[in-house]
Amino acid sequence: MTKKKLALEIIERLKKEYPTAHCSLDYNQAWKLLVSVRLAAQCTDARVNIVVKELYAKFPDVDALASADVEEIEQIVKPCGLGHSKARDISACMKILRDEYGGNVPDDFDALLKLPGVGRKSANLVIGDVFGKPAIVTDTHCIRLVNRMGLVDGIKEPKKVEMALWKIIPPEEGNDFCHRLVYHGRDICTARTKPHCDKCCIADICRKKGI
Ligand code: SF4
Repeated sequence: MTKKKLALEIIERLKKEYPTAHCSLDYNQAWKLLVSVRLAAQCTDARVNIVVKELYAKFPDVDALASADVEEIEQIVKPCGLGHSKARDISACMKILRDEYGGNVPDDFDALLKLPGVGRKSANLVIGDVFGKPAIVTDTHCIRLVNRMGLVDGIKEPKKVEMALWKIIPPEEGNDFCHRLVYHGRDICTARTKPHCDKCCIADICRKKGI
């Protein structure tokens, strides 16, 4: 089977398995997703969802957060780890949104990439989830799973994985496919234990079944 055909088959099976897969970070405005995705580095989404409640209670909009002292932000976000650098990035990012984008989040990938603390993974997440445009989010689950499945061959660098996936995944499928990989990676094709290939919906076509 070609990689393209394999990808289409895996996409269809994961759709059936996880029909409502979505981002597990809570947000109701685009700027909040930017904040959450920065806090999520080396932290669980569940913890981020708790921490941001306090952050938004104190700083409810872009203006408020842009005007806040970095130290105040740090005090609140430090349970997510890397408190100082995360607080510094969030502050700088909100200042740019306030001063250059009228408080809005740009819907352009390159503009997003220029924001402090925003890398390709975060920019793709915003582009896909907020703006509904084609996106491929290469987080740790995605990279581990697409290698095991045989969609890429021994590629670990996120940008290279993203570029390889763009060649074989229909653009409109990329965003949901990546969300589904997260679900599958947490539940079945796990990182810390042996993957549960006996319960896997793609076991018969996966390259690494039974590793
Ligand atoms: S068959 Fe096993 S290795 Fe392949 S995707 Fe499923 S759980 Fe992962």
